[in-house]
Amino acid sequence: LSPTRSRCPGPSGAVGALLPVVGAGTLVPLATGGSTTYANLDNAASAPALVAVAERVAQVLPHYASVHRGAGWLSRVSTALFEQAREGVGAFVGARPDDLVVLTRSTTDALDLLSRAVPAGGRVLVADVEHHANLLPWQRSARTTVVPGGVDAEETTTRLEAELATGRYALLTVAGASNVTGEVLPLRRLACAAHDAGTRIAVDGAQLLPHRRVDVGRDGVDYLALSGHKLYAPFGSGALVGRRDWLDVAEPYLAGGGATLDVRHDDVRWATGSDRHEAGSPNVVGAVALAQACTTLAALAPGALEEHEGALRARLVDGLETLTGVEVVRPRPRDAVGVVTCTVPGRSVSEVAAYLSAEHGIGVRDGRFCAHRFADALGLADGGLRISTGVGTTGAEVDRLLDALRRLVTSGP
Ligand code: PLP
Repeated sequence: LSPTRSRCPGPSGAVGALLPVVGAGTLVPLATGGSTTYANLDNAASAPALVAVAERVAQVLPHYASVHRGAGWLSRVSTALFEQAREGVGAFVGARPDDLVVLTRSTTDALDLLSRAVPAGGRVLVADVEHHANLLPWQRSARTTVVPGGVDAEETTTRLEAELATGRYALLTVAGASNVTGEVLPLRRLACAAHDAGTRIAVDGAQLLPHRRVDVGRDGVDYLALSGHKLYAPFGSGALVGRRDWLDVAEPYLAGGGATLDVRHDDVRWATGSDRHEAGSPNVVGAVALAQACTTLAALAPGALEEHEGALRARLVDGLETLTGVEVVRPRPRDAVGVVTCTVPGRSVSEVAAYLSAEHGIGVRDGRFCAHRFADALGLADGGLRISTGVGTTGAEVDRLLDALRRLVTSGP
């Protein structure tokens, strides 16, 4: 299915899915009786797989075997598929010739790996507004400074720039886009400020990459972490892409088979390159799925993703703002992806989320989104309701959500 052919323009004002995803049109039971098609507005948690990814997985499934070990035909095919997937992921994010692409299980895994690879004595700078995946691995080290972030990207960036100017840091680590407000950070500006101070920059790309292209060379990003399940591939695949020097000498992330050159009773010679951090039998099918998702997203017409998502975000925010009884958290950041959080004062967000699911077949996320300190700073100590769109989302699904919320807030207590 070519991306352009799959786009359904629909009637005037309608927004169709940008790419076909699996599970679209699934019927789910309603508490009120009967069933309806599921409206997945929780793409920021995990996005459904692209149809192109599902097709690729079905193609490679008969061909997988142990990689980097066997001499058999299937092993050689599998090794080639795995290494091509690594190249594909690297190409998607503009990896420089000397960068490593370490295939991991997820963004959490990639950032944990990186947190153990900072050279001894190197200080790390992070803001407290980060998702826990990009806060807790760093926070456990005494060499980390956690600065208070702001409620928006400008405030956070200014605070990070001021701290960078002290010249004390080996690494700055930031999320490319917030999983609470969807706001995008000015990465090039931060990369310049970091490099001017002799600091490297790591980007948690979990929320940004499903929506925007990042080119690590062009954007000055030293390390980029990403997750397959946010990028329209199944769970269990991810990557850390970036400068090889720290990674080549760091303590291996996992100790085990495949990460070594030679093992004696009193000595282990560890491999360098990605092998060093990828001990054990890798997730070949997951890597192939991730690479296919990258290829399919990369083939979209320039600007198509931003246009689709911008139209849905505007429709959602405009609609939510007409609802008396719904409050949107930072509705109009200067630059944002399709992630919007709101509250329904007087009602618990978990009840609202349960109502949307049970009575309307709509999936959203409620809570503090693994970013507790940011949620608290935004006044969401009791949690928020997060609505997030993806390439499979349609304008009709957004309208369904708005209609369901309208019924709720006009129905009285
Ligand atoms: N960073 C951000 C901004 C996220 O939103 C998430 C997941 O929600 C993560 C990191 C962690 O991703 P994963 O669970 O795939 O490791």
